[in-house]
Amino acid sequence: MKAQLLRKTAVLIVAAGRGERAGGDIPKQYRQIDGHSVLGRAIDSFLDHPAISRIQPVIGSGDEEIFRQAVPSHARLLPPVSGESTRQGSVLQGLRSLAADAPEQVLIHDGARPFLGKTIISRVLDGLAHATGVIPALPIASTIKKIDPTGRIVETVPREGLVAAETPQGFRFADILVAHERAAAAGKEFTDDAAVAEWAGMSVATVPGDVSNIKLTTAEEISAAEHRLAGESALALGDVRVGNGFDVHTFGPGDHIMLGGVAIPHDRGMVGHSDADVALHALTDAILGALADGDIGVHFPPSDPRWKGAASEIFLAEAVRRLRARGGRIAHLDLAIIAEAPKVGPYRDAIRQRIAEIAGITLDRVSIKATTNEGLGYIGRREGIAAHATATIRLPFGIE
Ligand code: MG
Repeated sequence: MKAQLLRKTAVLIVAAGRGERAGGDIPKQYRQIDGHSVLGRAIDSFLDHPAISRIQPVIGSGDEEIFRQAVPSHARLLPPVSGESTRQGSVLQGLRSLAADAPEQVLIHDGARPFLGKTIISRVLDGLAHATGVIPALPIASTIKKIDPTGRIVETVPREGLVAAETPQGFRFADILVAHERAAAAGKEFTDDAAVAEWAGMSVATVPGDVSNIKLTTAEEISAAEHRLAGESALALGDVRVGNGFDVHTFGPGDHIMLGGVAIPHDRGMVGHSDADVALHALTDAILGALADGDIGVHFPPSDPRWKGAASEIFLAEAVRRLRARGGRIAHLDLAIIAEAPKVGPYRDAIRQRIAEIAGITLDRVSIKATTNEGLGYIGRREGIAAHATATIRLPFGIE
């Protein structure tokens, strides 16, 4: 590992393609798979590897904003440079941008290969200690046929000695830059960087690739990857729990009430130590209940002056933080608000939106219902407002 660090390794991620075969509105490398973009996953593989000093993405011109949204920034991730209409042209732009502070070696990776493991990266880097170029390659399992334009078989190609090339393809930086410059000057077009290197007379070795390191090309491949990952994360978070919470506060002097983090004008206010938001208090207790982690009073004692007049979103945010710290996710939040007045209906969408924001989940995982108490009891007498909440959460199976 030490030798790898000393050699200063940069990564070039090629993501300038338009991905026409995958269809859709956006290039395939920006599609989300289980909440994270294809390109972001490809980049993360390298960020997780300690030998990589910096990563240079090459993207389509005009894709800067979509890139910024799809890929979180990182100290080792350089701002993207614009590519060209061909893969080879894009690689050359990326190599030139790295040349100002030239690394000793470079790994060139397809932005549409999101399932790259650390092992393959290490294998390619180890191979570079003994070769000017190294690529991961897989034996071909299928029998290979050559066909004519009508689809008729012309010949069966012997598969001995044939392998399928993957990426990342690693090279000594100075050599691959010269090879690409020469290929461009000669007007030669190749489909991978190893082919450019071979044409330039470089010796390129292979190391074993990985079947899971697939290049996502079609819409079907992207949706299959989505299903596989969603299934894996659902299985990993198979400890499903439900918690409930209840809260009530009394009306008092004031001109508005806080409900679900939204200020609703009213001829009265609510009495409480904090901002007396029954909706957020009930939700906080529902999540803490699902975690079997006490209640709102344990974590935010009313005796503590810090919480006097506090915005209750901090309570819900803390319950969510405790859930995330245990590796969990919110599956669903359901809230019933019981009040004779004010009318909640006009604020329902705003409350739903606010709760989704505080909890960091999508709107489709938040449900708000409102009812009166039919004039019965303390709520019917307009003395206060109550809320019932249910939280469904998923946790990883832990060791009991
Ligand atoms: Mg309360």
